[in-house]
Amino acid sequence: MPVPLLDVNAQNLPIEAELTEAFQRVLRHGMFILGKEVDQFEADVRAFLGVKHAIAVSSGTDALVLALMALDLHPGDEVICPAFTFFATGGSVARLGAVPVFVDVDPVSFNVNVDHIRAKITPRTKAIMPVHLFGQSADMDAILALAKEHGLRVIEDAAQSFGATTHGRQTGTLGDFGAYSFFPSKNLGGLGDAGLLVTNDEKLGDYARILRVHGMAPKYYHHFVGANFRIDALQSAFLAVKLRHYASYTARRQANAAFYLEALAGTPGIVLPSASEGNDHIWNQFTLRVLNGRRDALKDHLLSSKIGCEVYYPVTLDQQKCFANLPPTSLSGCEVSHQLAGEVLSIPVYPELSSAQRDEVAAAIKSFAL
Ligand SMILES: *Cc1c(COP(=O)(O)O)cnc(C)c1O
Repeated sequence: MPVPLLDVNAQNLPIEAELTEAFQRVLRHGMFILGKEVDQFEADVRAFLGVKHAIAVSSGTDALVLALMALDLHPGDEVICPAFTFFATGGSVARLGAVPVFVDVDPVSFNVNVDHIRAKITPRTKAIMPVHLFGQSADMDAILALAKEHGLRVIEDAAQSFGATTHGRQTGTLGDFGAYSFFPSKNLGGLGDAGLLVTNDEKLGDYARILRVHGMAPKYYHHFVGANFRIDALQSAFLAVKLRHYASYTARRQANAAFYLEALAGTPGIVLPSASEGNDHIWNQFTLRVLNGRRDALKDHLLSSKIGCEVYYPVTLDQQKCFANLPPTSLSGCEVSHQLAGEVLSIPVYPELSSAQRDEVAAAIKSFAL
């Protein structure tokens, strides 16, 4: 039986009646931009995350850009972020004319290593942007302590970690800003693009809210230059529906991960992912390391068995062509990231995976590796 890497219909069609009701409500009241659906969704996520300010936006990327704009980042300012992540992390920094400074990650957690961050702090460093990659928290206690020591801002790229906690605290709510994505492949997946910016700082929250609508307050008066980062009312209404089911989605991802960790334990040539101490991992991806140069062969084997899998990420940010002209210190010392780009393979872990499908994935990996 084919096993896709992700099956959005398996999640959305069982709640078709609720989603259709949300659609009809928005269709009939006709307020398509911001308005009460957005207010309601923002209230729902504030309660879910336990955060003071939630600003729903057009995408996770826009949440990152909006956070950087609200921190008044200037051209030449440096922002330290991991080399091993999705492009938007570094891309949002570069888009503001600031300088992304890439640091290496830990090979076990896939997340930034605080000693590498420390080594790349300069007088121009303005912020640290850790990523909670694949659904578990980076080492936030160490990162926050380092930021405090050097007077730096912290923007958490929580695109993959909505609801993941570390020592009981929600990722995304610990720094100055947290940015989430509701792209359909994220754990809280919308029916299109959407994102969220959160903060516990009232001034930053108010400023970001104004920047979301062209820096406009009151209407047609602009003290600042913002942009259009608005979320659709429809998307907010859909996400509010899906948030009601979110606990079960997370529990099923965690059950799938626990199954793989047991079924694949001890498989030669495979390093399994793990949750770091104190982390509640929500498994946006279940990512293997395949040793001995056999990653692409395993990928081909799974795909020919009709099992979906993908390499997140084959090219690290320091190796992207668009960043080739950054200063050498932005690009140096990312060897672990390069190694991971050649070893990682993510396998299906989405909530609706059946136990027969899980068995098939595990059997296919074991039959290959042995
Ligand atoms: C998905 C993702 C983003 C961007 O989110 P979009 O909603 O697709 O714009 C940013 N950072 C990371 C780590 C992501 O995985």
